[in-house]
Amino acid sequence: MLIIGPPGAGKGTQAERVARFYDIPAISTGDIFRANVAEGTPLGLQAKDYIDRGAYVPDELTNALVLDRLGQDDVANGFLLDGFPRTLAQVSTLDECLEQSDSGLDVVVQLAVEPEEVVRRLLKRSADQGRSDDTEDVIRHRLAVYQEQTHPLIAVYAERGLLLSVDAQGPMETVTQRIHDALDGAVLRGSGAASAE
Ligand code: ADP
Repeated sequence: MLIIGPPGAGKGTQAERVARFYDIPAISTGDIFRANVAEGTPLGLQAKDYIDRGAYVPDELTNALVLDRLGQDDVANGFLLDGFPRTLAQVSTLDECLEQSDSGLDVVVQLAVEPEEVVRRLLKRSADQGRSDDTEDVIRHRLAVYQEQTHPLIAVYAERGLLLSVDAQGPMETVTQRIHDALDGAVLRGSGAASAE
C-alpha cells in the first residue's frame, strides 16, 4: 500500500504505525535519502542539494533506490511506501515493478490536511528537530512542488478505485484510528478499496 499527502501531513508517523499493525515494512524514501546524506554515501551526496532546496530528487535516482529496496526479501508479504511515488514517472516505474512480480497495489491512503495547518506543523518540526529542509522558504517551495507534481497522483489512484481519503487533522491517535477504520471498511467490502463506493 501507499501513503500519500503533502509535506507535514504525518505520513512518516502514520506509515510506521500502520506498517507495524500489518507487520510489513514501512519504506520512506525521505528517510532513506536522509540516512544516505548522513552517511555521506554517493547517493547521499547526489541527493543532498535537492533535498535542502526542497526540490525532488531526480526520478532516475529515486526510481533506482526504490527498485532496489523492493527487490529485498522482506517485502514478499507486502509493504507500505511513504513518499513514493511522487511523480507520474514514478507511478509508471512502480506499476512496472509490481507487474513484473505479479503483484499490485491494494490501497492508497491519502492524508488530507489544509495548507495552513501543514505550514504550522512543519515550522514546529523545524524548531523541534532542525531538519535542513524545514525553513519557511523551503517549506513553501516543497508545498508548491507537491501541488504541481504529486497532487495529480491522487486523481490517478482515485480513478483506479484504490484511494482512501482520510482527514489527517486532529491528534495523531485520532488520525491513526481513522486510517484503520477506513482500511477495515475497504477490506470488509471485498477487494481492497476498489469496491468502496
Ligand atoms: P516531506 O514529505 O515532509 O517532504 P520526506 O521525508 O518524504 O518529507 O521527503 C524529504 C525530501 O526527500 C523531499 O523534499 C525530496 O527532496 C526527497 N524525496 C523523498 N521522496 C522522494 C521521491 N519519491 N521523489 C523525489 N524526491 C523525493
